[in-house]
Amino acid sequence: MPKITRKPLRKPATKLLTKAAAAKRPAAEPSGARAAKKSVKASSKASTKPWTAAEVYEAFSRFRNANPEPKGELEHLNPYTLLVAVVLSAQATDAGVNRATRALFQVADTPRKMLALGENRVRDYIKTIGLYRNKARNVIALSEKLIADFGSEVPRTRAEIESLPGAGRKTANVVLNMAFGEHTMAVDTHVFRVGNRTGLAPGKTPLEVELGLERVIPAEFMLHAHHWLILHGRYTCLARKPRCELCLINDLCRWPEKTV
Ligand code: SF4
Repeated sequence: MPKITRKPLRKPATKLLTKAAAAKRPAAEPSGARAAKKSVKASSKASTKPWTAAEVYEAFSRFRNANPEPKGELEHLNPYTLLVAVVLSAQATDAGVNRATRALFQVADTPRKMLALGENRVRDYIKTIGLYRNKARNVIALSEKLIADFGSEVPRTRAEIESLPGAGRKTANVVLNMAFGEHTMAVDTHVFRVGNRTGLAPGKTPLEVELGLERVIPAEFMLHAHHWLILHGRYTCLARKPRCELCLINDLCRWPEKTV
């Protein structure tokens, strides 16, 4: 009897992830990180040649000479209003937050006054800001927690600030730096882009860039480094059309697509 041979069954078209392939997949990340990544997608082509210590020193010396006392653009009256302003600034512009908080902080510049105002009134003050319902809830909840756990004061450690509703690592770093003079590096979309493009501190996540910047920037520049990098990203190293011809560090920048 002739031998019957059967063709092997075709595998289904749907790709099934093996365990190994699944492990290689990047973990889900916060939307802020995704947005920052998107805006800097070309940075993956940046040269990997690290900056020398002398180059980093030179870059920050130039930033310091050009703007010795850089200031953040979020308006606030004290550490508490700074904390609230930073919480409100998630996925919003500083200018938009300032327009809302000018009136809010006139009537509520402490946790107790904010509680007395109540969530509905807070919502009315900030309704021009994105996600305002959620943010109003967080402002009231964090004010309650400040009163209950911290004597109405903004705490001075990252872990304590991060324990407040609506506050994450970036918020903690901004507050620690601006209110208490700590050498922290808050990585927003601008700092993320500049860190990657220039090659100063390449990283796939804001945390990687934060730690990379902390590693390379000399201590004498750390108090203001966060603001210099934000302002550089906001006004010079723009996401779509960086103004390389005006850039103070264009000779040091590693980005292959720089236009000088
Ligand atoms: S040279 Fe261009 S890409 Fe590089 S930091 Fe300056 S503005 Fe940004």
